[in-house]
Amino acid sequence: MPRPKKCRKVEFFPEYTYFKPIGKSIEDLEEIILNLEELEAMRLKDIENLNQEQCARKMHVSRQTFQNIIDSARQKVAIALTSGKAINITGGIYCCKKCRVKCMECDYEYDFDISNASKCPKCGSSKIYCYKKDQICNRISE
Ligand SMILES: [Zn+2]
Repeated sequence: MPRPKKCRKVEFFPEYTYFKPIGKSIEDLEEIILNLEELEAMRLKDIENLNQEQCARKMHVSRQTFQNIIDSARQKVAIALTSGKAINITGGIYCCKKCRVKCMECDYEYDFDISNASKCPKCGSSKIYCYKKDQICNRISE
């Protein structure tokens, strides 16, 4: 039996998670699934310009595992771009920080997610703070 994979730490969640080529009909469209840890690997290496060692440490994986993740990510994106496939960013085996957020204006409490990252969903105030941090894990591999 294969060893269960360790959680990869992910800090970034994209606002847009679906990309499709214009002009291709839905019936002909094939989709490539890019996992969240694969996107994170490309972000750290190709956008933040960290070296392999730093990237691996950030994601709590070995250098070899990091290399495997980013190789897979780049291959998927290259295939999508050259053969006109859609990219669906979802799933993976990752951990992230989850915040319990409190609004200083109206005392409303809620769980942090991408859609309410900067404003209180109740009163729209930006005076919000994270008062409890938890680790959450997603182990749904697609
Ligand atoms: Zn509020």
